This record gives sequence, C-alpha cells and structure tokens, in this order.
Amino acid sequence: MLQITGIHMHYYHVCHRKLWLFAKGITMEHGSDLVYEGRWIGETSYPDRSEKYTEIEIAGSKIDFYDPKRKIIHEVKKSDKMEEAHEWQVRYYIWLLKQQGIVGVEAILEYPKLRQRKQVILSPDDEQKILDDIHHIHQIMQQDSCPPRIERKYCLNCSYFDLCYVED
Ligand code: SF4
Repeated sequence: MLQITGIHMHYYHVCHRKLWLFAKGITMEHGSDLVYEGRWIGETSYPDRSEKYTEIEIAGSKIDFYDPKRKIIHEVKKSDKMEEAHEWQVRYYIWLLKQQGIVGVEAILEYPKLRQRKQVILSPDDEQKILDDIHHIHQIMQQDSCPPRIERKYCLNCSYFDLCYVED
C-alpha cells in the first residue's frame, strides 16, 4: 500500500494531476514547496517557535509545530487562497494522530502575512470523508495515465506549470 502524507492530501484537494505527478516522483522543485513554505514562513515569522513546539513525524507526515500540552497543531501558510486544501491537510494530521490514540486534537491554520488564524477540527463526517479521500488518492496514485490539466489560475503558480503547458 502506497503511503499517503499530508502533502498528498493537500495536492488531492488542489489538483489530481499535481497529486499524480508528485506520487510518481516527478518534481520540478527542490523538495516539497509545501514543506519549504511552512517551515520557512514559520521560522521567519515565529523565530522562537521551535523551542516551544515539538516537530513530530507520523506515518511519513511531518508536523512542524505541535503543542503536545494543548494538543494543537499549528500549520503556517503564506496565503489563504488554498484554504480548503490547507484545512484537509491538517484534518488529515488530526486523523493520523487519532489513529495512534491521541484524541482531542485541533489545528490552527496561521497566515502571518494576512494576520489571520483559523481553527480546524475533525468531525465524524470529516473522518468518513478522509477515508473516502484516501481510497480515491490511492486510485489516482496507481493509475497509469496522468489526469487532465485543471486549467485554473492556480496553474500559473504551480511548480508543474512548465511541464503541463509545455506544448502550448
Ligand atoms: S500546472 Fe495546473 S494542471 Fe498542472 S499540475 Fe499544476 S495545478 Fe495541476
């Protein structure tokens, strides 16, 4: 069974083609833009944070800022344009922790550049959706052909832009 991480869950909610390319090991960037973005913004916006919070790795997913006392995941993002994908990424982290018996966890999405924060919890309906999403993510990752382009404005900011639009 292919391992799914928070990045797979995020990409699934952004673009199935992006998920497929990433899952096939095709990268157009150094490492993951998501991991880089979260760490870099987190470290520059909250320089003392690494002393207060714990970095945990669970089932291949790395959570940079976890407060074990208050059971809060802090996920730092640059903009709220992909807010729904951000929410499902952190809900997936909460779900992963629950699978390990750690219950009562919530997440806070932080957008320091916008001076905004958003609380995210995991409802029973969300849990069912995550199970359905995992099933669908596995299907996409295992398919032989690349899913179609989404043809959205987001493509301009995507690291796969040159690959997807090379023939245009
Ligand atoms: S450029 Fe657009 S279609 Fe291609 S992977 Fe990125 S988001 Fe998907």
